[in-house]
Amino acid sequence: MRILLVEDDAIVAAGIVEGLARSSMSVDRVGTAELAEAALAMTAYDLAIVDLGLPVMDGLELIRRVRRKRMNLPVLILTARDGLEDRVKGLDIGADDYLLKPFLLPELQARLRALIRRSQATASSELIFGPLQLDLGVRSAKLSDQVLDLPVREWEVLQHLIMAAPRVLSKQKLIDSLGDWDREVSANAVELYVSRLRAKLASSPVQIRTVRGIGYRLELA
Ligand code: CA
Repeated sequence: MRILLVEDDAIVAAGIVEGLARSSMSVDRVGTAELAEAALAMTAYDLAIVDLGLPVMDGLELIRRVRRKRMNLPVLILTARDGLEDRVKGLDIGADDYLLKPFLLPELQARLRALIRRSQATASSELIFGPLQLDLGVRSAKLSDQVLDLPVREWEVLQHLIMAAPRVLSKQKLIDSLGDWDREVSANAVELYVSRLRAKLASSPVQIRTVRGIGYRLELA
């Protein structure tokens, strides 16, 4: 999962980046709404965390612009405890959820997982595709009830494939989602993760089909 964090407070931002890295989410942080707009134009994020109190353009205006462009990116707003009016306004203009400052990391992580599930229209933390079962909460994968041992990157690729199914998942979306500003993920690396996953799924009817020029699709043979 690749997340854009828009937060001008460096200490709060550092805490979030570090905490989310531990749950294997990549976070790109910007300190202004203007930089956030530029980042959103470049990269297909899975989710944005937006602090409402930002210098110059505020978080509400940023969300308004994002929604005006019809981007269906899930947005979580961070607000001060006394900011009831802003919170309501934020939800009204298209934020998906909010969290009051100060907050604890486990709550932030749980809300992010819920938002990602909701954006994929799945009600539980379990994703199922044929004999394949992924649990987003504990980040585990099973194939016909046998635990699949997957390194973080392979797990991420499989998660994106299963969430996209039956649609095609673009290779660019995978490249964007797996990397962050400090560490680019190449098309070759994505191909390598996919080929390793194929080897691990070889004994099952689950197949990762290459859709030429676009990306991959999870299929049942
Ligand atoms: Ca702020």
